[in-house]
Amino acid sequence: LNGYVGFANLPNQVHRKSVRKGFQFTTMVVGESGLGKSTLINTLFNTGLYPPKEPLPPSAERPQTVAIESISADIEENGVRLRLTVVDTPGFGDFVNNEESWKPIVENIESRFDSYLEQENRVNRQKIADNRVHACLYFIQPTGHSLKPIDVEFMRQLHTKVNLIPVIAKADTLTDEEVADFKARILADIAHHNIHIFQAPTYENEDEEALAEAEEIAGQIPFAVVGSDHLVKTLDGREVRGRAYPWGVVEVDNEDHCDFVKLRQMLVRTYMEELREYTNDVLYENWRTQKLVSMGV
Ligand code: GDP
Ligand code: MG
Repeated sequence: LNGYVGFANLPNQVHRKSVRKGFQFTTMVVGESGLGKSTLINTLFNTGLYPPKEPLPPSAERPQTVAIESISADIEENGVRLRLTVVDTPGFGDFVNNEESWKPIVENIESRFDSYLEQENRVNRQKIADNRVHACLYFIQPTGHSLKPIDVEFMRQLHTKVNLIPVIAKADTLTDEEVADFKARILADIAHHNIHIFQAPTYENEDEEALAEAEEIAGQIPFAVVGSDHLVKTLDGREVRGRAYPWGVVEVDNEDHCDFVKLRQMLVRTYMEELREYTNDVLYENWRTQKLVSMGV
């Protein structure tokens, strides 16, 4: 990406008009404790695209995430302003009772809907802050087997409220073949349990290049990600973000090694617009309708 994000070139002209004022995009990370959620956020924000306001602590000092926290960065491109926020959540493996550990997360998502609805109902609706969660990265342990019951439960609680994007955590611990098999199994499990994950739409009037990029990205879901917030030296002497093994280095930013680049590209470029639209038009709208019905309006 070479320091260039691309969100200012979002394809839809109508949309461009509405974003000229600046817009907001929020991603949440969810999944079992220790799967690299906080590290991946760091990895995203350390790309130079999202310079953090304050330097983040190195992983050795980073405490375990115990509460829902968010970090934001304002970036600007071609005169378009974007406030990017990532919401970190505590891993659910740590709770004594995991059964309802999805609750605080769902409540957090709903309270963001609430706040949006409240702003919509104000007389002055000029400046609505959109803090709704537009994408939820769901981290799956790299077991190579299938989804765990708790993953199924979590995703089922979340899929009507957010755009779910499953990711295989710590993909450097699997071989390429294991990753391919695991991806197929995860998708089969997801279909079997009727879990709705984000479906990347494609448009007929799109140019060939855009279509190819979109299809390539969609074909990688669930993304196999590797996070790292430090530089390591490759066998041929390059300094890269990655994880070192006796046999070599797994490079975060190398598309042949993992899907990190594709994931970032999907979030900040290719599908940012669709993720925002689906959140507003479908997920938020369904929630709002249900809420009004339950209030007897
Ligand atoms: P969280 O509990 O999901 O937020 O996980 P953390 O980001 O705190 O990471 C837990 C541990 O896993 C740390 O020791 C990280 O260095 C390590 N880790 C993070 N990402 C990766 C990865 O992609 N691959 C491997 N092998 N380890 C990772
Ligand atoms: Mg964490």
